[in-house]
Amino acid sequence: MSENVEKRQLLGMTPQELGEYLRELGQPAFRAKQVFAWLHQGVPFEGMSNLPKTLRQMLADACVDNPVAVLSTVQSKIDGTVKLLYRLLDGHVVEGVLMRYKYGNTLCLSTQVGCRMGCAFCASTLDGCARSLTPGEMLGQIVCANGLLESQGEGQRVGNIVLMGSGEPFDNYDNVVKFLRILRMEGGLCIGMRSVSLSTCGLVPQMRRFAEEDLPVTLSLSLHAPNDEVRRRLMPVAKAYPMDEVLAACRYYIEKTGRRVIFEYALVHGVNAAPEQAAELAGRLRGMQCHVNLIPLNSVPERGLTGVSEREVDAFKRALEQKNISVTRRREMGDDIEGACGQLRRRYMRESEPQA
Ligand code: SAH
Repeated sequence: MSENVEKRQLLGMTPQELGEYLRELGQPAFRAKQVFAWLHQGVPFEGMSNLPKTLRQMLADACVDNPVAVLSTVQSKIDGTVKLLYRLLDGHVVEGVLMRYKYGNTLCLSTQVGCRMGCAFCASTLDGCARSLTPGEMLGQIVCANGLLESQGEGQRVGNIVLMGSGEPFDNYDNVVKFLRILRMEGGLCIGMRSVSLSTCGLVPQMRRFAEEDLPVTLSLSLHAPNDEVRRRLMPVAKAYPMDEVLAACRYYIEKTGRRVIFEYALVHGVNAAPEQAAELAGRLRGMQCHVNLIPLNSVPERGLTGVSEREVDAFKRALEQKNISVTRRREMGDDIEGACGQLRRRYMRESEPQA
């Protein structure tokens, strides 16, 4: 554990909160904007060149600039995708993925250390949730990835964010909302809500509340089933919220934000991938402003679930198209560097365990 764990974390504070803290240190109000900008540029306190030397020293002694540090990276030789492992101040480890698309760099962020939603196919949830991440730890992942891009000589920074790493964003509601509000601020990372996708397993009350926040991100809903029976087999959360309620919350989100909802559907062999199930799914989604994203399951041997063949994906996709549902197959990035969420972290945890 780092000695810094006791220090004050400045990333994740709003300019106003920073201003209050700096005032306590006897600083004028305009310093808040300066510090806010430096923190989001990933510049350490010593490098904050428009601050007096004494203040830089004071901050370095009492505060942490970024609560996240890159522990290791693995880069795909196929498409340049980078898997990142980050270390947090208390020693916890989370992971992320940096994807290079033609239209820019997309970073997949974690919102919790692990997850407590218990989805049968997901590696992130196998050890439960250790804790939620703070807004500063979410911003910190982006600052780290920007540092990596810079060190690789790339001019472009992270432009798009997907909240699809480990964790359930709506199980960490307040921190995620604060993160999004800071993310779009001028003088900070300045990433607009149109460049953000948030994926949820379908916590209905939070989905409805979020629709009112005026944070019009792209909402991705992890559906993975055409009906409640199948959904309950894969996702414990379906026992709390039936599909009708989840879909009604999606319609509410569409109505409030004017944005279409994306349905994530991981095809699991013998469970949810039959063409009749595609037809049933189409029936449930009829008339909705939505898009279906098919993900061939990354097999999770721990749970005995396997993915599907290309032919099964095609047949499922065609069956949806015949019913006029907009659908794509998710492009797989970085196939050679570990697939599904949570896998890299789990391998790291296993390998760093003391040998019995
Ligand atoms: N908790 C959120 C976000 C994290 S998971 C959610 O449930 O949406 C991001 C996406 O990856 C989700 O759609 C999730 O269901 C999917 N996923 C998890 N494990 C997977 C696997 N083994 N194969 C394919 N997709 C998986």
